[in-house]
Amino acid sequence: MTDDATQDETVDVLVVGAGPAGLALGGELGRAGVRALVLEREPEPPGYCRGFNLNARSLELFDRRGLAARFLTEGPTVPTTMFVGASRLDLTAMRAKHRYILGIPQTRVEELLAEWAVGSGARLVRGRRLTGLWQDGDGVTAEVEGPDGPSTLRCRWLVGCDGGRSTVRKAAGIGFPGTPARNFTLLGDVVLADPSAVPYGPNTGPDGRSVFAIPRPGYVRLLTADPAPPADPHEPVSLDSFQRAIEAALGHRAEIAEARWLTRFGDAARLAERFRAGRILLAGDAAHIHPPAGAIGVNAAIDDAVNLGWKLALVARGQAADTLLDTYHDERHAAGTRLLRNTRAQAVLAQADGDDDRLAPVRELLAELAESEATAGPVAEEITGVATRYPASGAPGHPWAGRMVPDLPLGPAGADGLTALLARTPGGALLLDGTPQAHPLSAAAHPWTDRVTTAHTHPQALHGAHAVLVRPDGHAAWIGTPSAPVEMAAQELRESLAHWFGPPAATA
Ligand SMILES: Cc1cc2nc3c(=O)[nH]c(=O)nc-3n(C[C@H](O)[C@H](O)[C@H](O)COP(=O)(O)OP(=O)(O)OC[C@H]3O[C@@H](n4cnc5c(N)ncnc54)[C@H](O)[C@@H]3O)c2cc1C
Repeated sequence: MTDDATQDETVDVLVVGAGPAGLALGGELGRAGVRALVLEREPEPPGYCRGFNLNARSLELFDRRGLAARFLTEGPTVPTTMFVGASRLDLTAMRAKHRYILGIPQTRVEELLAEWAVGSGARLVRGRRLTGLWQDGDGVTAEVEGPDGPSTLRCRWLVGCDGGRSTVRKAAGIGFPGTPARNFTLLGDVVLADPSAVPYGPNTGPDGRSVFAIPRPGYVRLLTADPAPPADPHEPVSLDSFQRAIEAALGHRAEIAEARWLTRFGDAARLAERFRAGRILLAGDAAHIHPPAGAIGVNAAIDDAVNLGWKLALVARGQAADTLLDTYHDERHAAGTRLLRNTRAQAVLAQADGDDDRLAPVRELLAELAESEATAGPVAEEITGVATRYPASGAPGHPWAGRMVPDLPLGPAGADGLTALLARTPGGALLLDGTPQAHPLSAAAHPWTDRVTTAHTHPQALHGAHAVLVRPDGHAAWIGTPSAPVEMAAQELRESLAHWFGPPAATA
């Protein structure tokens, strides 16, 4: 980590913001050999923690980077999650390897991602705030405010991972349409003078308002509806107003001896109209904000970063045209649309007055779908992002088409696994080849060997396919089946390779 990074320097990619999105993107770019600088305005990591979980989708992605096992040592796993306020959703019904939630503080996620990003070759510089930017045909000039005053930094690409109030998004003129917050929640990480004054779980007072208490080591997190949010919801929450709100909801005294973090959050839902404006891109909360239902913001941020990282690496290395970055917008904007739909649906049902009999049937229906053996899996996959499917070619009916390819045994007698191989192939893709030796499909991929590694495998591992092209993020880009004529399949494979990984290195 260096501190002298912001004086008249050119980097390939400037990542603004060292939250989960920026750190995961730094790691992705670093491992792919791209000069990336992650710039963070805060001199130190935050002294408070927002969330406490990673879901199956993040763990599946981390598996493909060799990181999941490390994260799994950090906390317990829980095979259920909250759904629509009250119903428990069984995560073991998902088609995924990690069929649970991992309990891990967001602060720890960020520490581990920072270690990974720096260890992969990215640079992380704290205490520098991006204040403005402009782009031209060759790159982006960023204005940065640091301890030594203002400076400029030149980069070829700039990614705004700078949170929901993103300076990058505003400076790039990217709209952020959606719905404003209508309900606000007060959050306090506090030490109570008498911990028994607010027991774990919901505590409903005499007038029906409630305080939810979540014990944490050394303190308790209290959550209650904000009865009178100020005109500017970002206004700091005072201890006095928090104490009053808690006691009014409980209907009894609950003295706060120490407040570690007091804040307010709302249920706004907004999606950036574009995730790319020329050489500027957005990821994480900078691209989407949503109600907290499902505790998925960190996971969506990581998902954006992993989708963008390998594409930006190919473009920055000059191997693919910049139009590849439009697929980042297409894929993650569509994922963001679903994210907002899921979280808004859950929030409406969780917040609405429980006595509103018009919503009762919707709640009942969703609870039934969540509890039914036939539908619990798809519901869980949808709300955790495990169901994420990207456009793919080849066999559309194959169960892996566009989805993340499961961790298959590869190599002689299944000695290697797909995720381990992807983790060892920085920035690269895999062609899983189950065809006999010297088959035309293997030959079709030869001109891309600098970007695509062929792994020979037993055809039985491929679920009826005889070859599968796996993107660096683990998703199937193309699936070939023995029923297609060989020349047609080879042509499809060449088109898919050129679409995702740029033109062949040399004409055959
Ligand atoms: C109370 C609360 C609880 C939550 N609980 C959960 C949960 O349980 N699970 C979950 O998955 N999600 C949870 N979330 C959501 C989650 O915290 C966010 O979705 C996630 O942090 C988004 O990551 P990000 O990297 O996009 O943005 P952020 O984490 O917001 O990171 C943005 C970074 O950019 C920096 N920055 C901003 N502007 C600039 C600038 N101009 N120059 C340089 N740096 C800048 C900021 O300092 C910050 O470090 C919760 C959120 C809140 C508020």
